[in-house]
Amino acid sequence: MRQLTAKGPNQVEWVEVPDPELTSPKAAMLRPVAVGVCDFDRGLVSGRYSTLPFPIALGHEIVAQVVETGAEVKTLRQGQHVILPLHISCGECAPCTGGHTNSCDARKPLSNYGLGAAGGNWGGGMSDLLVVPYADAMAVPMPEGFTPADCAALGCNLVDLHRTMQPHLQAFPDPHVLIVSGHAGNMALYGVVMARALGIRKIDFLDDDERRLQAAASLGATTVRMGQPLRKEGYPIVVDCGADPERLAIALASVAKDGVCTPVWPYPGTAAVPIGQMFRKNVTLITGQPHARAHMDPVLRLMAKHGFGSKSIPVEVLPWDSADQLFGRGEVKRIFVRDSLP
Ligand SMILES: [Zn+2]
Ligand SMILES: [Zn+2]
Repeated sequence: MRQLTAKGPNQVEWVEVPDPELTSPKAAMLRPVAVGVCDFDRGLVSGRYSTLPFPIALGHEIVAQVVETGAEVKTLRQGQHVILPLHISCGECAPCTGGHTNSCDARKPLSNYGLGAAGGNWGGGMSDLLVVPYADAMAVPMPEGFTPADCAALGCNLVDLHRTMQPHLQAFPDPHVLIVSGHAGNMALYGVVMARALGIRKIDFLDDDERRLQAAASLGATTVRMGQPLRKEGYPIVVDCGADPERLAIALASVAKDGVCTPVWPYPGTAAVPIGQMFRKNVTLITGQPHARAHMDPVLRLMAKHGFGSKSIPVEVLPWDSADQLFGRGEVKRIFVRDSLP
């Protein structure tokens, strides 16, 4: 089969690889039909994020069609469209049943699609075939009224932004939220969409990129240019999409007392943290990948209620075959679709 592969920085090619096999009765074989490019993929392809060994089969924001199901798969049928979370999770172990699906005991840490050997070689969405090992637990049927492209960003970006805000709304029912934008700027824009869907009325969006600032304003955020003053009292909820230790420092310094800051970027090394200032303000810093599968159902309910999706920020929907030239490049969110899917 054909698989989009990053062989090294800025070296993306279609390669022929053996078809994957169904090795478990709980697994299903899928044919990916729409795949979103995550801001992380842009860092991976450009070499900006350089800690993962190549080659890497690309794509972890995946909508796919069911081709074949294992004997124990109960919830899926052939031809159905399903949405995948970016991680592998079994749905049955203690972490999974407790909602910590990214800490699933049934597989190694970092078991993601689209991360290559570091992620356990689960393959990537930009492939003709892909195995979902725990089909009933992982694959979520695509709801009516949405296209594959609408749902492509659900399994990573949308669930990630959901977990940065929704769990804190009980403590802060009418919060003033700060979204620090930057290299993960498309995620920052999804943050504005998610905040609005969650009923958050006050959203400050910090960036120095004119295009993103305009997009954030049109989505309903108040824009703040880098260097301009932020809210004096701070923000109870801060989302760091800066993907840069300097912007992380701004994010942490901007948290209000008892507030929480969640970076969505996987900072690979060390970064300075103003622990004394955070201690004095009872600030919480949350790090780690989202528990993607656990957040998919609540995000789908929000999508159905408010009618948003992957295309609610500026996106380029592009033909599948062009991905060797276009995957991971460019600033605007990209979604690759097969054939003439909308
Ligand atoms: Zn991602
Ligand atoms: Zn599990």
